[in-house]
Amino acid sequence: MARPSPLEVYALLDKSNCKDCGYDTCMAFATDLLERKIRVKDCTHLIQDPKQAKNLNKLIKVVTPPQKPVIIGTGERQCEIGGEEVLMRHQLTYYNPTALFLEIADEDPNIEDTAKYLTDLKIERIGDVLTLDGIALRCVSGDSEQFKLAAKKLTEASNLPIMLCCLDPDLLLAAAGEIKEKKPLLYAITKDSWEKIGTFAVQNGLPVVAVSNNLDELISISATLKKLGVKEIVLDPGTFYGPGKLAYTYDKIMQIRKAAIDNEDVNAGWPVMGVPAAYWSQVKVESDKDLWLHQYQEVIMGAIMESIDTSLIVLHTGQKKEEIWALLALMTLRQSVFSDPRVYPAVDPGLYKIGEPDDMAPIFVTSNYRMTKIPVEQDLQGANLNCWLLVADTEGIGIESAVAGGQFNAGGIAEAVKEFKAFDNVKHRILVLPGMAARLSGALEDEADAFVVVGPRDSSGIPKFMEIQWKPEEFMKEYESWSKE
Ligand code: SF4
Repeated sequence: MARPSPLEVYALLDKSNCKDCGYDTCMAFATDLLERKIRVKDCTHLIQDPKQAKNLNKLIKVVTPPQKPVIIGTGERQCEIGGEEVLMRHQLTYYNPTALFLEIADEDPNIEDTAKYLTDLKIERIGDVLTLDGIALRCVSGDSEQFKLAAKKLTEASNLPIMLCCLDPDLLLAAAGEIKEKKPLLYAITKDSWEKIGTFAVQNGLPVVAVSNNLDELISISATLKKLGVKEIVLDPGTFYGPGKLAYTYDKIMQIRKAAIDNEDVNAGWPVMGVPAAYWSQVKVESDKDLWLHQYQEVIMGAIMESIDTSLIVLHTGQKKEEIWALLALMTLRQSVFSDPRVYPAVDPGLYKIGEPDDMAPIFVTSNYRMTKIPVEQDLQGANLNCWLLVADTEGIGIESAVAGGQFNAGGIAEAVKEFKAFDNVKHRILVLPGMAARLSGALEDEADAFVVVGPRDSSGIPKFMEIQWKPEEFMKEYESWSKE
């Protein structure tokens, strides 16, 4: 299916430019609707006017991606998965990163503490805050009361979305009944349990996971659930370990994604999930001695699944604080895989305050490439420096390339000094230039009427530079002596 154009979307809108949605024109609304910044229901006219029902239905059809989205949970941490339009990220972009769910057993005596730890876990990396997306509560006890109690405890300790995991439909539905207002994801429906769980899901508006390692059977369960009236389905084709099984697992996820996106098979057009945590039930772990080797297998599977846009994965490793390495690896990879290739990694030029700079605090100059500005800022903060960071507009290009390409030049930096009034906050006229731009120092002194000191090539060297080379009084004496000449 070709991606609709803003004009096609506009044609289905009211075209009154009434501004009720907060947009000045229906055309602006159409553009952002296609970018998923808003939803169809945000056009009040279309929703409230019965005469527009035909256009409303057409519009929903036009903007619904071939892989439909599924929402798990409620409130601010609710998580949307799937909803992708392309097989490969470079063809457009991916909209919803792989959701990371950590499993907890219903028998875990520290269930609340574990849930709290996972809920609060935050990793800050190059300007983004990386978090987990949900908890998969596994029925290990085989006891309905225990599973229900654990589900209840989870909702009290955490606002993360919950996936209830149990292959016994009675146990699953008993726990789901306890927390249904939190919109848990029900795992799992098989060819034998589709009617019971499916009917419950329809009655309570809950998302479900259909599971089968036979793809024909999986698609047939999906079709049956749709007929039954289930509105949100996730497909799990199975996760397998052992020789040759990795390719087998990979292949099945890709087959479903291809069927949905390239072939527009509506029954395959749902998010796809994987369970790297299945490792622990498929292999024999005989001792704790080589535990990390086993954990490594699980993380590799998780990484492979993320790299092919698997919509949701369930992990076992990462539940404990000492296993943070596993989450660090998967969250970092996810951040890279799901960055939008259409957005140039630039930040706003400007003068950024670090700590509490006094009137002799240094002014460090850098480029507005995101991967330069943010690490430099983090290095300055990490060294507890009180200073200013002047970010010049280099069209989002890193320093070394921007010096070579001319985007980081003396004139541009001098402009930034003037525009952001860099010297208004201090009683000196000293700029610290990155070592990689040393050759601009002479010209910059003339253009910006400043004393220029060449700093380290890498911002990790700034603390040492401050200790040994930062002598503002001496620099200013030199600057004043030139000024008199
Ligand atoms: S609410 Fe609907 S009709 Fe009004 S401006 Fe927005 S898109 Fe147009």
